[in-house]
Amino acid sequence: MATNLEVTIRRVISTNPATGEVLQQLECGSEAEVRRAVARARVAQASWAGLGVDHRIAILRKFQRLLHESKSEVATLITREAGKPYVEALLTEVLVVLDATRFLIDNAFAFLRDQPVPHGSIAMKAKTGRILREPHGVIAMVSPWNYPLSIPAVDALAALVTGNSVVLKPSEFTSLVGLKLESMLHAAGVPKDVFQVVVGDGATGAALLASDIDKLIFTGSVPTGKRIAQSAAARLLPVVLELGGKDPMLVLEDADIEVASSAAVWGAFVNAGQACLSVERCYVHKSLYTQFLDACVAKTRRLKVGNGMDPQTDVGPMIHERQLRMVEDQVEEAKAQGARVLAGGFCLPESGPHFYAPTVLADVTHQMRIMREETFGPVLSVAPFASEEEAIQLANDSEFGLAASVWTRDRKRGEAVARRIGAGTVMVNDTISCFGISEAPHGGLKASGIGRSHGRFGMEEMVRVKYLDVDRLPRLKKLWWYSYGERLTRQMEAFVDLQFARGGRVRAALQCMGVLKCRKL
Ligand code: NAD
Repeated sequence: MATNLEVTIRRVISTNPATGEVLQQLECGSEAEVRRAVARARVAQASWAGLGVDHRIAILRKFQRLLHESKSEVATLITREAGKPYVEALLTEVLVVLDATRFLIDNAFAFLRDQPVPHGSIAMKAKTGRILREPHGVIAMVSPWNYPLSIPAVDALAALVTGNSVVLKPSEFTSLVGLKLESMLHAAGVPKDVFQVVVGDGATGAALLASDIDKLIFTGSVPTGKRIAQSAAARLLPVVLELGGKDPMLVLEDADIEVASSAAVWGAFVNAGQACLSVERCYVHKSLYTQFLDACVAKTRRLKVGNGMDPQTDVGPMIHERQLRMVEDQVEEAKAQGARVLAGGFCLPESGPHFYAPTVLADVTHQMRIMREETFGPVLSVAPFASEEEAIQLANDSEFGLAASVWTRDRKRGEAVARRIGAGTVMVNDTISCFGISEAPHGGLKASGIGRSHGRFGMEEMVRVKYLDVDRLPRLKKLWWYSYGERLTRQMEAFVDLQFARGGRVRAALQCMGVLKCRKL
């Protein structure tokens, strides 16, 4: 029988989703451990910020070298813990982080330099203004399992180089990758308390949110994001929320079917469809519809599903049973509502515990859950459209707004359509690769989140802006100070006219001449 003295220890179990093999069990960070980690991070942050950006950039260089040297080891760990094919782990995780590090090494110094603010107003000409970018202090990060290295690493590197300390709570499904990131950053020279990983489940994440942090960067599902936003609002904690997506792909009538169908198949099935940017809704002009579907089905049937460590594997497992059931339910419901299953549509228990066959669905509609809610699985859902206007309306008919793609041979037309789609990113003739462009901001509209990661906008999230103003005429009273009176009023009227009247500016200038004289201390 449990006594009061017994403490329940929560554990997270790291499992290989392809085989079900338990890789490691780890204790979840308790509330007290989270608080202590944040307190250590706070103490350590001051000297980290004081090191100077050059020094921190040198540490990033070392991290980059270490990550490059251990690329195979890291990609193997990602494949074992998250299931994706090794080649994807290499390209969409290791390479993305190496390049994001390159971006920060090249840009952090200039980004953190004081930025002059020239003043346009005549009244303010005697002042010099500058924008300072200062670290927030302790930034907490809570991350998902689907890109267990690239998501936390890109954010953490931006936070670190700008002088923050970081406490990361990785997904309970990919704790080992989080701990590997921690050991590489420490080996590169980031002090232990400046970057800490606290492993655990949602309760550990909630404890981190409730702790004495200065900002939270959250990446995960919409329901968790909403809970986090509510708690953060109560204490006015700034947050970045990178949430789900339901990205549309628009295949216009002049698109290259061969290219667009390959893109749709890769975009829907990469990482077994468990990507926030995956192609979740595909709209195809009716004149190409049948041909496009035939090409997608033929290409889907050629895909090899299996363990990501096999170099022949194209599509790995789902992360866990719950994710598999969610996909299965959505496909079954869509079938019952009239969608045609042209490929897949079933689990593959013979391949392992969480495999789902790459699936092509035709004739889906917005009445179906599969076109409204995030599927996050290997399903390519395709619907026809009759006009460009209809395609844009369908693309925008979603609670999400993360990214989208437009496929056409006419670049100008593609851009014009892209401008009308409500999303954080729209790609013309490509999909998903925006995540690998270190200069490009990543983030969404509507339920897809708040704020941006990656690139300059990602760095901006890691700093607070301070405006510093220095007056160059310290012995002059300002024009607008006391004492007021008729004379000052007339002079100020003239002063406003001097700047904004359509005519008579010379007279206005003469009228307000005396103002400087009488304002001397
Ligand atoms: P999730 O919301 O279940 O969990 C994300 C993280 O939040 C995990 O670390 C989890 O432990 C933690 N968490 C859970 N409850 C919490 C709470 N109450 N307080 C604090 N932390 C808590 O999401 P997931 O299943 O890990 O990830 C999949 C989702 O993430 C998908 O919706 C996907 O679209 C989204 N995602 C978005 C992006 C993006 O950049 N927009 C990138 C990757 C994934």
